[in-house]
Amino acid sequence: MTEAFRYERGTLHCEDLAAPAIAEQTGTPCYVYSRASFLGRFRTIRDAFGPLDALIAYAVKANSNLNLLRLLADEGSGFDVVSGGELARVLDAGGDPKKTTFAGVGKTDDEIRQALTAGIRHLNVESPGELERIDRIARDRGEKARVALRVNPDVDPQTHRYITTGKAENKFGIDLQAAAELARGSGDLAGIELVGLHAHIGSQVGDPAHYVASLQKLLALRDELAGYGVAIRSLNLGGGYKISYEGSEGRPAGDYAAAIAPLLEGKGIELEIEPGRWIAGPSGVLLTRVVEVKRGGEKRFVIVDAAMNDLVRPSLYGSYHAVWPVSAEAGPPDLDGPGNKTESVAVQLSSADVVGPICETGDFLAQDRPFPDVDRGDLVAVFCAGAYGFTMASNYNSRGRPPEVLVDRDGFTVIRRRESYEDLVALERA
Ligand SMILES: *Cc1c(COP(=O)(O)O)cnc(C)c1O
Repeated sequence: MTEAFRYERGTLHCEDLAAPAIAEQTGTPCYVYSRASFLGRFRTIRDAFGPLDALIAYAVKANSNLNLLRLLADEGSGFDVVSGGELARVLDAGGDPKKTTFAGVGKTDDEIRQALTAGIRHLNVESPGELERIDRIARDRGEKARVALRVNPDVDPQTHRYITTGKAENKFGIDLQAAAELARGSGDLAGIELVGLHAHIGSQVGDPAHYVASLQKLLALRDELAGYGVAIRSLNLGGGYKISYEGSEGRPAGDYAAAIAPLLEGKGIELEIEPGRWIAGPSGVLLTRVVEVKRGGEKRFVIVDAAMNDLVRPSLYGSYHAVWPVSAEAGPPDLDGPGNKTESVAVQLSSADVVGPICETGDFLAQDRPFPDVDRGDLVAVFCAGAYGFTMASNYNSRGRPPEVLVDRDGFTVIRRRESYEDLVALERA
């Protein structure tokens, strides 16, 4: 639970607004974001890395709503994009291309051209073949492309295997040996200006020591390259800063900055980081309504109107999200943040699965959770859903994707309307 979402007088509030007031107007399911939380968390991580003078490049894939990108662009944030679509969003939102980097293992020629046309800060190159293509495309255009080599530092961040990206067997980046050779040869490529080294080891990385290990490898490679006359000015440590889905405050961003600071002192390095989840995750909830309650054997199923198409993380990764009725004396016992008097939850709890209406056994939001009695029509909140929620939503089962709203104190704005049936079929009409 974060400061932005609290139970007051028996009702979940986002900032100063009672959640039922939103659901009444927008219907359910609906993503609800707190402006104060989103901006506040950006400022917190920016300030934590302030002493290192780091560029904060928000990872757009965590939550790419234009209105949220605009909030960050207005704050001077940079952006980390992984597709032409994300780059277009950043430019549309007024983001600064000079603070925008482009990663991804399979950039197409068109995407490379799009990045060069936009004049982005640099492309993060993920293979020797890609470097060749960027060189050729840039030379054709009579320009030099700024690139950073994405290195695979072979660090195990001890997180879920699907969100581990910096081990030798993962598809991302270039191993250290090959990167060194590539960097040495880059001086001969007329279309390439090598400016940096990049590593992103994964997501939900709880121990700052893994970033230290990653940075040490980048620094060693930088020193080696300096010996060959290749000067590297920027190092990018990627994203992955852990949040707590159990609702405690999680790792303070300052812990990560403090751990790496001694390694950077006096080196004159431009540092870049790419947090996504850390900023967006705790800043949103998914509101949903109970459609039906039923029993199956020993099981109690709470069937809600949100499903795996709206929030796929539980189905895809087995991820944990706290789920709790919107009308309750206090927050869920598994969330222990400010404003939640866990010990005062005196209601009777029994085990339940909270599931969606989709025709897949894997369609669940929570399994075997202690949960209060709820009835048809009750509102339920899925917490910490601001990152990799809406951006991973689909139209499976011909379900329109939910609306997104942004709360500012006691009011809210719809920042994406609900998809209608016409939206679903518009591209199929002859
Ligand atoms: C996904 C991704 C990020 C963001 O990861 P979070 O866990 O959301 O902070 C940063 N950089 C790259 C290259 C990524 O692919």
